[in-house]
Amino acid sequence: MTITRRTVLAGTALAAAPFGGTAALAQTTPNAAPAGTTSPQAPGFYRYKIGDIEVTAINDGFARRPVEGFIKNAELKDVQAALQEAFLPTDAFPITFNTLVLNHGGKITLIDVGNGDSGAPTSGRWMENFRAAGFDPAKVNTVVISHFHGDHINGLRLKDGTAVFPNAEVMVPDAEWAFWMDDARMNQAPEAMKGAFQGARRVFGPIAQNVKRYEMDKEIVPGLTSIAAPGHTPGHTTYMLSSGNGKLMVMSDLTNHPALFVRNPDWSAVFDMDADQARATRRRMLDMAAAERAQVAFYHAPFPATGHIAKDGNGFRFVPVQWSPAV
Ligand SMILES: [Zn+2]
Repeated sequence: MTITRRTVLAGTALAAAPFGGTAALAQTTPNAAPAGTTSPQAPGFYRYKIGDIEVTAINDGFARRPVEGFIKNAELKDVQAALQEAFLPTDAFPITFNTLVLNHGGKITLIDVGNGDSGAPTSGRWMENFRAAGFDPAKVNTVVISHFHGDHINGLRLKDGTAVFPNAEVMVPDAEWAFWMDDARMNQAPEAMKGAFQGARRVFGPIAQNVKRYEMDKEIVPGLTSIAAPGHTPGHTTYMLSSGNGKLMVMSDLTNHPALFVRNPDWSAVFDMDADQARATRRRMLDMAAAERAQVAFYHAPFPATGHIAKDGNGFRFVPVQWSPAV
């Protein structure tokens, strides 16, 4: 069959014809969801291997973000054009949340933990997906935190105070702790930022004595090295995961969506606390990923949020991995 614009527009006829018409389709189509509900997807986890380390991306849903006012140094029409180029809505776009689980010889390390029960109604899917992947929160050995924004730390503690990973050692960037746990800084902060300071106290306050503060350029758990990536927040951290010949650059919040900030690395999101520093960090890390042809994982990219970075014009392009049915 030759596909013309006309056959594309006549989409239903095109879809039905190769499978023997509507009668055959009716037999294989599962029951539709009841009116007013949505049909669920398969659980949001995806496994891959970096050397001997099994990595599992766990999805925590998404939050829709209005486009207007989101980028501080670009015209709205240019931002909308970038979204359109990626076939995304131009009024509000989805920011996806993806954490990583590292299984290294049975030792379980999490990198960030999602929104818990404190996020947007379209988030908070993490525990369901984590359990569907076969993991048990009581058996988590280590939780590594990249920075103190709520979408990365709130999953550590439910709103009622329950510690979600009772047996895990919690590791946080030293610079991040120094900034957000400083009472003087909280008192001087603009009103809009006070919530983030209070959020850090809600999550870490009860375990303050036991939180382990890590430094940059250190192997903080076997195979995982911290890399300073300041700008988004003062202690924002990315990582290099290495095992055998395998390498993964864990990019944390270097971008809120690749279609915006990988394509246009000089744009500044409202979330970047030091915009100039965040831009320089973003370029440096994306340049390194492109030059080394390294696999990357983002926290905020379409699930499963892993792939490679290619240079493209004055910016870059995110090329997702090809889905693999087995690791
Ligand atoms: Zn984030």
